[in-house]
Amino acid sequence: MSASPATDLGYLLHKNPARAQSFELAFGKAYVFYPEASEERCTAALMLEVDPIGLVRRRGGDPRTLEEYVNDRPYVASSFMSVAIGDVFGTAMAGRCKERPELAARTLPLEATITVLPCRGGEAFLRRLFEPLGYEVQATSHILDEANPEWGPSRYFTVTLRGEGRLGDLLTHLYVLIPVLDDQKHYFVGDDEVQKLIRRGEGWLASHPERGVIANRYLRHQKSLTRRALEQLMAEDVPEVDEVETEHNAEEVQLEKPISLNEQRIGAAIAALKASGARRVLDLGCGEGNLLRALMKEKSFTQIVGVDASHRALEIASRRLHLETMPEKQRVRLSLVHGSLTYRDERLCGFEAAAALEVVEHLDPARLNAFERSLFEFARPQTIVMTTPNIDYNVKFENLSAGKLRHKDHRFEWTRAQFQAWARSVSERFGYDARFIPIGPEDAALGAPTQMGVFTRPA
Ligand code: SAH
Repeated sequence: MSASPATDLGYLLHKNPARAQSFELAFGKAYVFYPEASEERCTAALMLEVDPIGLVRRRGGDPRTLEEYVNDRPYVASSFMSVAIGDVFGTAMAGRCKERPELAARTLPLEATITVLPCRGGEAFLRRLFEPLGYEVQATSHILDEANPEWGPSRYFTVTLRGEGRLGDLLTHLYVLIPVLDDQKHYFVGDDEVQKLIRRGEGWLASHPERGVIANRYLRHQKSLTRRALEQLMAEDVPEVDEVETEHNAEEVQLEKPISLNEQRIGAAIAALKASGARRVLDLGCGEGNLLRALMKEKSFTQIVGVDASHRALEIASRRLHLETMPEKQRVRLSLVHGSLTYRDERLCGFEAAAALEVVEHLDPARLNAFERSLFEFARPQTIVMTTPNIDYNVKFENLSAGKLRHKDHRFEWTRAQFQAWARSVSERFGYDARFIPIGPEDAALGAPTQMGVFTRPA
């Protein structure tokens, strides 16, 4: 802390800067001491001594693997650190300060350094966790082995966070996010942990763009706990939805205007997504946000994430949805994510449904397999809705020369037989069922211009 007098940190933490103290914990010992304590800057250090042998012994039974004795746990910040923060700085974390109550409520210039923080997901994920909370993040990556530099970087970082805020909030963010980055916990995670997350997440987690991954990792990837936590989080903050205002609403009231194919696709996709009962939905390859706008109008969708590989498309989507000025209650439901659908992405896990409208035909056929795996195997939503052109119908478009695809970015277009064969093979491989719905005016021989596939997997 660097407010004047900075030594007030002692009051805030309820630990006297002049004395080193130690605390017995279930898994070892915690020490608190102040490497510096001047008027200008005051630093409190929390050091943990984790006793790995004691841990194995206390657990009882024979250790089964060497890893139970030899692991990184004593040397890194993990859920042990969170427990220590809770035990040693619990009052400060709760935002209470008996002697100087006004201090706990004050915004102070704060800095926290975590000497060794395992970051699954790397520096990018680290930033995605802390930057939305207003911290400036400085991270130094450590290589795996100095003697073997060719082994490359490790997942360990030295991290410094800087920001202006309340000490209680900083401690809370560390308490929740350290084990999220580490992606492990040393204790059994059950129902209680959902309530803990809701309590500790109050005021920041519901609006955090990574809340899905945070909850999922915090709850050790237990889908039902994660779902419960997110529902509770969103129920507390999420709103009765008023209509999202867009410049396009005006157009939509022109009833005489024939419904465009695009609108029919969106209508059909919304119907399928609503019928699935999903609350958290992904719009994969969201483009400029047409489907996102329709999703926002449906109250039943509490978390909506649009993903696209194009920054430009996301910028346009953000502008057209008025993301910047959207009321907070709406804003928390929607996030836009820059990412590629052909890479596994944890940000896309934990959703009940995903839509990918007019996207698959933009993928390089050589990357199709990667797309299949990252969506159907890794992200694995219960329901997936896809649309793609039916190439047989192209002869009906007067402005399209023979043999041409509908868009210059299309890598291929499928006949109905080709799409259905692909869909059935994917479904079989990943345990989904597929059904098909024609969209647009149907020609007896050629079918409809757009084909939709709805993939579901048994719960
Ligand atoms: N779903 C929107 C946009 C369809 S256009 C709609 O129906 O209007 C296809 C979109 O997919 C483009 O925005 C493009 O940027 C995106 N896209 C193409 N390849 C992608 C990939 N590998 N990962 C993520 N997005 C991709």
